[in-house]
Amino acid sequence: MVFSNEVTDKAWERSGGKCECTRPGHGHTGRCNQSLLKTAKGKEASSYGWTFISVSGLFKKEVDDCKVYCTKCAEAFTKTPPAKMRPVVKDVKPPIRPMKK
Ligand SMILES: [Zn+2]
Ligand SMILES: [Zn+2]
Repeated sequence: MVFSNEVTDKAWERSGGKCECTRPGHGHTGRCNQSLLKTAKGKEASSYGWTFISVSGLFKKEVDDCKVYCTKCAEAFTKTPPAKMRPVVKDVKPPIRPMKK
């Protein structure tokens, strides 16, 4: 699935040519702000490489759903999907200790 050019153009404009990732656990505090080159889209080997990611995973026709991520953040993002997409962790009950005789 891909975004329409209309959405991606606006998203790139909004990003200002910098990674828009604000996720914790990527080694950056707040916004990543990694400088990116528009021509380096999809170039994983380049430190200016980047890609579009879908926040919802549904590739909606909304600019809000489309974020510009540097390659590193995009990689981390695909490894850790949004919380709502993760399976719900059920309450872990404490282990039952065997009764002492
Ligand atoms: Zn980034
Ligand atoms: Zn990040």
